[in-house]
Amino acid sequence: MAREISAGGVVVLEISGVWHVALIEPQKEGAKPGKGTRKRAPAVLALPKGLIDPGETPHAAAVREVHEETGIIAQAVAKLADIKYVYVRTWGDGEKVFKVVSFYLLRYVSGEIDDVTPEMRIEVKHASWVPLAEAEQQMAYSQERKVIRQAQAYLASHGLAPKNSAGE
Ligand code: ATP
Repeated sequence: MAREISAGGVVVLEISGVWHVALIEPQKEGAKPGKGTRKRAPAVLALPKGLIDPGETPHAAAVREVHEETGIIAQAVAKLADIKYVYVRTWGDGEKVFKVVSFYLLRYVSGEIDDVTPEMRIEVKHASWVPLAEAEQQMAYSQERKVIRQAQAYLASHGLAPKNSAGE
């Protein structure tokens, strides 16, 4: 079985006293905007991630992929988890792939969400800030939802509650 190793990030930013996370809506293969009579599927969001380059550290790859896919410059805070899944390539030889993705908690530093290159638009339809507490219900993959819960637990246990979390 082929293997792929990726890294990704849960980038957090406090907006009006509420933690938000940068999520992407990946471009769906074969989705033709404005065509067909089928019901529009609900937005299916995911964490930004991508393959680790040779010689690159996982946390550097997470920072780079976050920048490429969301336009955001972020700083790694802590490692959250490794997730694993198997998928079948829909291109080429249709090979089965065993994939590991290391996720990091990152803090926003600078940049504008969704300010991505035209080349990246082929992969990412849209990037946006989503309230951390509402992220799970909009996300496609259960293991990524678990990573969101781990980020919430990390923020809470490290006293990183947003300023007005008491309901200011
Ligand atoms: P990368 O973002 O690491 O460069 P990619 O975009 O080439 O990778 P994936 O995002 O891993 O590839 O997607 C390959 C297949 O795996 C797709 O069918 C996708 O729906 C599925 N997939 C992606 N993430 C998960 C996950 N967390 N759990 C299960 N299946 C997933």
